[in-house]
Amino acid sequence: MKQTEQTLCPYCAGHGYVQLLLGGSETCYCCSGKGTEPKNK
Ligand SMILES: [Zn+2]
Repeated sequence: MKQTEQTLCPYCAGHGYVQLLLGGSETCYCCSGKGTEPKNK
């Protein structure tokens, strides 16, 4: 199996969403829910 060059988003750890302190979850605005860190600028 070949590993992709994609890097997991450091903000949501690749989940695509972030856990809110008050409860619930929200789509990660860092990766737009993709879970991977965008390589292109
Ligand atoms: Zn993210």
